[in-house]
Amino acid sequence: MTTGIRIFKTNIAAEDGKRDRHGLSGSKPPYVSHAHNTGIMLPVITYSRNVFLPLTFVCRNACGYCIFRRPPGEGCVLSPDEVMRILRCGAGAGCTEALFTFGEHPEEVAGFMPWLEDFGYSSILEYCYAMAEEALAMGLLPHTNAGIMNADEMRYLSEVNASMGLMLETTADIPAHRNCPGKEPARRIAMIEDAGRLKIPFTTGLLLGIGETSSDRRESLEVIAGLHRRYGHIQEIIIQNFCPKPGTDMSAFPGATLQDIQETVRMAKEILSPDIAIQIPPNLADAAKVIPCGVTDLGGISPVTIDYVNPEHPWPALDELRVLTKGYTLKERLCIHPEYIRRGWFHPRLRDCIKNLENAVHMRGTFVIPAKPLYEGKAKSVYSSEKPDELIVVFRNDMTAFNGVKHDKFTGKGKLNATASEFFMKMLEAEGIPTHFIRMSAPDTMIVRRLEMIPLEVIVRNVAAGSMTKKYPVAEGTVLDWPVVTMDYKDDERGDPMINDDLIQVFHILTAEELIQVKKMAMDVNRVLSRFFDECGIRLVDFKLEFGKAAGTIYLGDEISMDSMRLWDKVTGESFDKDVYRFDKGDVITAYRNVLKRIIPDVEM
Ligand code: 5GP
Repeated sequence: MTTGIRIFKTNIAAEDGKRDRHGLSGSKPPYVSHAHNTGIMLPVITYSRNVFLPLTFVCRNACGYCIFRRPPGEGCVLSPDEVMRILRCGAGAGCTEALFTFGEHPEEVAGFMPWLEDFGYSSILEYCYAMAEEALAMGLLPHTNAGIMNADEMRYLSEVNASMGLMLETTADIPAHRNCPGKEPARRIAMIEDAGRLKIPFTTGLLLGIGETSSDRRESLEVIAGLHRRYGHIQEIIIQNFCPKPGTDMSAFPGATLQDIQETVRMAKEILSPDIAIQIPPNLADAAKVIPCGVTDLGGISPVTIDYVNPEHPWPALDELRVLTKGYTLKERLCIHPEYIRRGWFHPRLRDCIKNLENAVHMRGTFVIPAKPLYEGKAKSVYSSEKPDELIVVFRNDMTAFNGVKHDKFTGKGKLNATASEFFMKMLEAEGIPTHFIRMSAPDTMIVRRLEMIPLEVIVRNVAAGSMTKKYPVAEGTVLDWPVVTMDYKDDERGDPMINDDLIQVFHILTAEELIQVKKMAMDVNRVLSRFFDECGIRLVDFKLEFGKAAGTIYLGDEISMDSMRLWDKVTGESFDKDVYRFDKGDVITAYRNVLKRIIPDVEM
């Protein structure tokens, strides 16, 4: 470069170097993904997309902390119709797991059976079996946690379940379990052992803060480690913190502290074999603070149903999960972990469903947001992806104006702009204009082609407004005789100075041919967008574009959103764009929503 200025600003800034991987360095983490383009090994955190089916709230145990349990009565059994509705919603939302969790041996509770018999079943396990068959028919893999079962019962259910679970909770004898025949530690250990003999991929775990001590937790973990050594069937262990609930005997109990949870996760990592996933429920614990202690799994997350055991704690949305696991590879898994699929630890009836779901999950891919962005813009962050020729762009809620002098955050703004950008990029592609858009991976997150960005802001103006009316003697609102393209050199420190064709070529930003091509693309974009907006009752006043190159081709990059366009109502002249924020003209989110309502009427934002 002879000019001395850095002409190509790539969106690949300094890499974040080798970071300590949340205490996993040194020992082998269960799964490690290699982000090819960065050389950084990102630890994997898994989760399963499930629906929660509480077949009954009636339970023979009366734990001091529970609000799940209810007496027999109207609605105490989830009807088959309701089960089918939930399964249908789950299948529609791409869930892979039907989690059947319900009260233990409800048949022992007086008054329960007539409610179940009403639906034509003579035991809850028989009902569970039938509903699990329905789940399989809909392409969801059942995982059942029915409390204590004997070996015959587990063998029976394993015909239609890919995995099963029972929380050990604790090996300690605690007052909270005084009225609970099924919570006797020896019985629970015996059942987990039976599951091992039957080769059932199994989930168990500890409930923290129910009256046990730190050494009880260690003992519980050692028991689980021992069972796994003998049978190799524990695929995951849940470290679950008890959350005190009003109206229960233990409402005044302090529950587990963050420190307790962190300490137990560390203990689990030390005691358990590394092939056992360490799980925390991200709706209960402060996941961002606990994950670095050695968590490798976030359990079942439902986009459809609530956590009936802790209904006051909503699941994080899948896109929140991505943010929580920033710096890790977030990977979806099935309720039967890969190792157990490989070993064939499932009934032949489940084979097709497992294969189909493995495929579906594989197609959805993994999701990695490295801890540090490659590039942090004023309103977007750009991250490397696992694929070297793709980038992840997160549209943030930040809003800035006047070169960052004014700065605020507005909830939902990132999603609004991402939605608009996706819409326009797809429209332009359909019109033959190459864009960097590949796909959306979340409402605020776009996967794009990695470009070498051209440091120009290409502005197309149809009507005089903004800086044009400041720099030149032209009144705002004057319709220009024809659309004009102007270009600014993208450099915040210099205030993005205007640049002309000669300078662009002499600085080797673009060749003469490329310059013609960029201008043509800008005019093409203007033609497509102006016509479209006109049909929506909006006047496209002006807008800014950015371009980049990949393998010799020029693509439209960056975004096309309400942040980068001036949009006026054709009749009233009302602004629907960033000027609402720049000049305090009203509620900018309402204005942005109005644009989306007009351009994509059937989208709920
Ligand atoms: P002006 O030059 O009048 O400030 O802006 C012209 C058009 O380009 C407006 O639609 C404005 O929103 C857009 N624009 C100019 N500079 C930037 C920028 O740095 N970021 C974004 N997002 N849009 C810009």
